[in-house]
Amino acid sequence: MSSLLITNPATDILITIVDGDEPADVRAKYQAARAAQPGWAALPLADRLACLSRFRAELAGETPKLARILTQEVGKPFQQSLNELKGTLERLDFFLTETESALRDETVRLAAAGSPLTELITHVPLGVVANISAWNYPFFVGSNVFVPALLAGNAVLYKPSEFATLTGLAITRLLHASGVPKHVFAPVIGPGKIGEALLAQPVDGVFFTGSYATGRKIARRIAGRMIRLQLELGGKDPAYVCPDADLSTAAASLADGAFYNTGQSCCSVERIYVHEQIYAAFVDQFVAEVKKFRMGNPMKPDVYIGPLTRRPQIKVLDEQIADARRKGAKVLLGGQRRANHRGSYYQPTVLVDVNHRMKVMKEESFGPIIGIMPAKDDAHAIELMNDSAYGLTAAVYSRDEGRARTILSRVNSGTAYWNCCDRVSPRLPWSGIGHSGIGLTLSKYGIQTFTRPKAWHLREC
Ligand code: NAD
Repeated sequence: MSSLLITNPATDILITIVDGDEPADVRAKYQAARAAQPGWAALPLADRLACLSRFRAELAGETPKLARILTQEVGKPFQQSLNELKGTLERLDFFLTETESALRDETVRLAAAGSPLTELITHVPLGVVANISAWNYPFFVGSNVFVPALLAGNAVLYKPSEFATLTGLAITRLLHASGVPKHVFAPVIGPGKIGEALLAQPVDGVFFTGSYATGRKIARRIAGRMIRLQLELGGKDPAYVCPDADLSTAAASLADGAFYNTGQSCCSVERIYVHEQIYAAFVDQFVAEVKKFRMGNPMKPDVYIGPLTRRPQIKVLDEQIADARRKGAKVLLGGQRRANHRGSYYQPTVLVDVNHRMKVMKEESFGPIIGIMPAKDDAHAIELMNDSAYGLTAAVYSRDEGRARTILSRVNSGTAYWNCCDRVSPRLPWSGIGHSGIGLTLSKYGIQTFTRPKAWHLREC
């Protein structure tokens, strides 16, 4: 048994020490899950729905307590932790309502007089799946996978991030209390090397949320095993403000999109392009919006910017800013970590005079910093938005829907936003292009993805 130290990133104080798994524990959990899965899959869907419906009630009942745990271990401002839990309940409602129709058998050809062949599609659970999760939205990114995976009849080996272990254990406790058998949903606790031990098991699918660097390692590890692999990875999400946009709405919306969750969202706005006619006015309004954000103790209700969850990210941000400065960028706001203060706080930072030779416009920042750059026209903005290895989301602000849709249809991204950003809907598929990953979660396709379609050719004789 190894020990995992859980530290509060706002204070650097140790919260607790948790027992982690060893590779032998992971093997045993896999074997138990393998043995338990057929029984779970054989239950009527109504029984699995009843368990997950009780889980929803448990989450709703414990929301303030769970939000406190989340804020303590990842530093997410308390109101934003509450928002994540509220959003998770909405996702649960979606899955509870839609799974039956998404997994219903589909008769695509019906036998008739003179044509005795019926063709049918059924949805078969994958079996035992690995769910390796990130820390930045542990309720969201976890439940996008384990809820539909369980409803579809799979057993789930769930590895929460080592930076969100307490939340992962709380999720486990509530699922078991809701009637999900303990071998059907088993937590795998520990750092990346325990994730590797999980990947060493002969699972039937791997569903990963995390960085491109880890996703690439996992893809290499899984290659050749011919199992379902989904990778929900990072982003360098762009937004473009057209000259006809409502400037104050765009500035407020984009400041929120860039700095919510202290910039640690996969779909945070990470680059802003503004038509040159309105560039100066937009930058003024944007900076004014960012100045309103209060940074501090994330337990306080009015705090909007908390600490970074992972201390090493301070170095990443410092390096991006130093690189940008060396190449001519100007820092309008922030530019360094919060001085003389405990915790991994980084000042909200706004950079201008940036270009695509700078890391800050090309590499994921995953923190409270943003670069703003003028674009000559819509074509130039499209070119800049597409100049990225990532392709998760893209946003356009304009009064003209046709103009926005024309631009967004030419931008390589899984998600397109008109006059909004940094939002996820359970009703829409969540997917990325390029380094943002492969596969999808959410929507009816994000339910079916935990099954394989089986084709039936049925001929009456
Ligand atoms: P990470 O890649 O460091 O870790 C993710 C998970 O992988 C953790 O549980 C970790 O323990 C595990 N892991 C690490 N090395 C492993 C290995 N070799 N084998 C198996 N498992 C291993 O990512 P993170 O810091 O937790 O999350 C931040 C990243 O996640 C950002 O890039 C963000 O954009 C991305 N993200 C993407 C989405 C999305 O939906 N596309 C959602 C949330 C976060």
